[in-house]
Amino acid sequence: MAAKGDTLNIELFQEVITENGGWWSPCSGCHESNEGVPTGEYSAAMQCHRGFGCRECGGLGAVWTEWTAFDEAYHNALKEGRTEQQALDAGSATLIHQYKPHPTTHD
Ligand SMILES: [Zn+2]
Repeated sequence: MAAKGDTLNIELFQEVITENGGWWSPCSGCHESNEGVPTGEYSAAMQCHRGFGCRECGGLGAVWTEWTAFDEAYHNALKEGRTEQQALDAGSATLIHQYKPHPTTHD
């Protein structure tokens, strides 16, 4: 039996997740965690926990997040054992690089 609230097209959602390099995150507007443990229902389609729905997420209970250069640098830094702050700095560095008005190097 399908879980309540999971009447979404699971295959389509997972295709988008795989192809677009992004992920769903629990909506900060309507999903709460209790000491770091998500309280919302887990959605197999979105591969994340969902809130009860609000204006912020359009009632989905989760928000789509694109995988960016920032995220890649951030997560790589954490994997290398760096601190949260260092990881954020690493992510920010990619943004500065990305929006440099006159790039002198090409990569
Ligand atoms: Zn919401």
